[in-house]
Amino acid sequence: MRSESAASSALQLVDDLNARYPDVPSEAIVKEDLLRRGVGFSADALCVAAGFKPKSYFIFSFDLRPIADLAQGENLRAPEELALVGGARGFRRTIVSVRISPDSPYQVDIVDGALVLRLDGEPLCGVELQESPAYYGRDLASGKTIREIAPTIEWGYLVYLTVYRKCQYFGFQEECRFCDINENWRQQKAAGRPYTTVKEVAEVIEALEIIDELDVERRTHAYTITGGSITRHLRGADEVGFYEPYARAINARFPGRWISKLVVQALPADAVRRFRDAGVQIYHPNYEVWDERLFPILCPGKASFVGRDEWMRRIVDAADVFGPAQVIPNFVAGIEMAKPHGFERIDDALASTGRGLEFFMAQGITPRFTVWCPEPLSVLGRDQGPAPLEYHVGLLRLWRETHARHRLPVPPGYGPPGAGHAVFSVSSFLDALPPDLPIAELPYPASVTAAS
Ligand code: SF4
Repeated sequence: MRSESAASSALQLVDDLNARYPDVPSEAIVKEDLLRRGVGFSADALCVAAGFKPKSYFIFSFDLRPIADLAQGENLRAPEELALVGGARGFRRTIVSVRISPDSPYQVDIVDGALVLRLDGEPLCGVELQESPAYYGRDLASGKTIREIAPTIEWGYLVYLTVYRKCQYFGFQEECRFCDINENWRQQKAAGRPYTTVKEVAEVIEALEIIDELDVERRTHAYTITGGSITRHLRGADEVGFYEPYARAINARFPGRWISKLVVQALPADAVRRFRDAGVQIYHPNYEVWDERLFPILCPGKASFVGRDEWMRRIVDAADVFGPAQVIPNFVAGIEMAKPHGFERIDDALASTGRGLEFFMAQGITPRFTVWCPEPLSVLGRDQGPAPLEYHVGLLRLWRETHARHRLPVPPGYGPPGAGHAVFSVSSFLDALPPDLPIAELPYPASVTAAS
């Protein structure tokens, strides 16, 4: 196969990888490529898209250009996600998060009155957009929108509650090198967008009441509470003390209504137990990158405040609290190849990441990944492009092979697996699985009272 730089075009690269890896759904290859390169919109396509469910900027920018460089106002008009359908390749419906890049080889355009995705100018498949759900049409009493307080992603499956929009890992010595959470907060504020730094528990509950009332078809299935790390105090509370009341209040008000998920740091077992007792069912202590050498370089704050070995140990300890299937740490696929410190060879990057998969999956813990988006306001994304597509396809195969070898169920809280079925939109790990694999069962949520 030609290397990425030797392939004559983006389309040629996709076709080469399709031919080389027929065991990977071709939709998944395009999805990974879209997530790493981003997508642009023609002026007409953007006019159409502006009438559908908009991109909410639910935590990071997840764009390949800063807002100041988006000449068509894409930050206000682009959709949250695309559904890729049909076309000459017969794509099964594939849900992809929108990461804006006006000069990407992927462009959404209009042909014969319908939205299509072009690659290098060639029509690749059809595009469908999600209607704005009814709950996006009603505001909170304060005037804040649902899109701001409780946006949904994954085609409406997941309510995404970033209750703290900044991170206390701050500056070059602490911030994760791939992350733009603090810079994105600044650019959203500068662009005049309402961007609530700390959401009140009461306004989160109010937003969920609206969703619960208006989501009559019960399309929302899960929620995630998340936000930046708290290394000191926020409103007088430490990380557990700040995040736990959100979970407790939601689970007391809506027992069993949604699968309950939480992304916070890898914390000691007694802290993790407090979250479980507040009704959290799935815990995401994200380790970002497995490699021992790269972890302190790419996550300097986590390395100095917690330490890489302690971080991994706490993930394993959390399995005793939740059960291993309910501990699902994320890593950011591709940063292990970022210059100047990352692996130069794809095989070396996969070997390192594979050791992490083996370590966790052998213990029944299933990590999952998001595709690295080299955001220009992050340190790593400032002056380089994404990891090679061949790396991402190799990772899909490696993840699937390791998962199958350990006979693990599909991680819960993400919806169904399989090409044509998956809704998880920021990587294709579910699209690449067989559709008939069972999803891990969740025990019935703990009964929770409003006060601890
Ligand atoms: S812990 Fe790292 S990845 Fe998470 S929000 Fe803070 S800087 Fe970003």
